[in-house]
Amino acid sequence: MCEHDHTSGPVPSRPLERRHVLAGAAALAGLGLSSMLPAGALAAEPVSQPLQRGKGRHPGAVIIEGGTLIDPGTGHATEDSVVVLGDGVVQAAGTRDDTRKAVREAGAKAIRINAHGKFILPGFVDAHVHAQAFEDAALILSHGATTVRSGSSSFYQDIALARVPHFAPGLAPRMHAAGLFVSPDQGDSILADPDLAPLAAERRQLTDPKDLAYLTRVNISRGATVIKTRANPRAGIPEQDPLELVYDKEQLSAIVHAAKGAGVLCHGYSAKGIAGAVAAGVKSIEHGVFVDEQALANMARRGTYFTPTLFGITGMANSGNPVLAERGREYGPVLAAAARAASELGVTVIGGTDSFGTDVTPIGDEANALAEAGLGNLTALRSITTAPARLLGVEGKGVGRLVRNGVADVVVLNRNPLETAKALSEVRVVIAQGAVVRNDLG
Ligand SMILES: [Zn+2]
Repeated sequence: MCEHDHTSGPVPSRPLERRHVLAGAAALAGLGLSSMLPAGALAAEPVSQPLQRGKGRHPGAVIIEGGTLIDPGTGHATEDSVVVLGDGVVQAAGTRDDTRKAVREAGAKAIRINAHGKFILPGFVDAHVHAQAFEDAALILSHGATTVRSGSSSFYQDIALARVPHFAPGLAPRMHAAGLFVSPDQGDSILADPDLAPLAAERRQLTDPKDLAYLTRVNISRGATVIKTRANPRAGIPEQDPLELVYDKEQLSAIVHAAKGAGVLCHGYSAKGIAGAVAAGVKSIEHGVFVDEQALANMARRGTYFTPTLFGITGMANSGNPVLAERGREYGPVLAAAARAASELGVTVIGGTDSFGTDVTPIGDEANALAEAGLGNLTALRSITTAPARLLGVEGKGVGRLVRNGVADVVVLNRNPLETAKALSEVRVVIAQGAVVRNDLG
């Protein structure tokens, strides 16, 4: 019998709410936070007053000058260009003449970056990452991915990270968060949120469409803006067969329906699994090694995007595990051909690295892999700029192109990415949300 007196002592006044759940996620994501934030950044907002939208801060003006401005939308290059950033947006981008007024208004205090001989581009988009902490976010940013789509996190850390740019520019990419992976085995992720307790009953595998819809709705209620699920098991785990079916069209349809317009990204390998996912109306197929021509035709017709994560899948060939190494050798060429066929059939291919935690692949490496698979340099550039911006519905905010009043996310490259896609991995400057997060040009 319990001898403690539960009737005295402090009692929590209220049950756990959304903001408590997110505070927990923020704490999990925040390992190393105190060392990375500028001094006083947290103290600036009184704790007693909840942070309000619209109260964010913007870094000072930045002028990047002298480089060649590349527009992924048109493929146009403007030599000796100037980009002026201020108030968290692009004030001007173009020729010296086009930008003269904005340069004057930016004033003498503006940070000036001399980009002579370099190439100025919009910040990149990585359409498949698993960021769990600030350290991961910093690594993703350092390679130029200033916008990312999450492929899920274990305890909603991505949802917490999505709030960061508004209050601490340059600390995390613009995050389209997925929350928890809608997958049969939730494991300890169930503990991330009391609302998930009903799913813990009997520790059963989540396969009932009603349970899948419920988990999807909880994710959305917690702030997820995309939903990640699967048709097949993982290729990166030797014990799993990525060609088995996990969820069929009916199960995936329940998820798509419950997502209420939040785009569903669906991990899939087998032709059958992919066909079911496309028919269910997912927004994008992730990996997609054995996608067949019928599915590609349906994807083209329905506007389903394709995120091959080609660099990562091919890279399994270097694994120390013989099963994974064999998969990498077998899957790599098949997937490269699928990506090329998709592009030729009118499916929009987008770049995703599947970076997990601090194991971060530069997004430029994926774009280069797509270029080498036969997509060409401009399509490869678009796969990490305009194409995922369209997928995420943020073209109008200027993601993927440097346009006046668009987001102040910029990268500077050493070489011309229209001449070699390898240039996309040679990032010299990264500016995210108007803040200079990397500058190797001095
Ligand atoms: Zn993934």
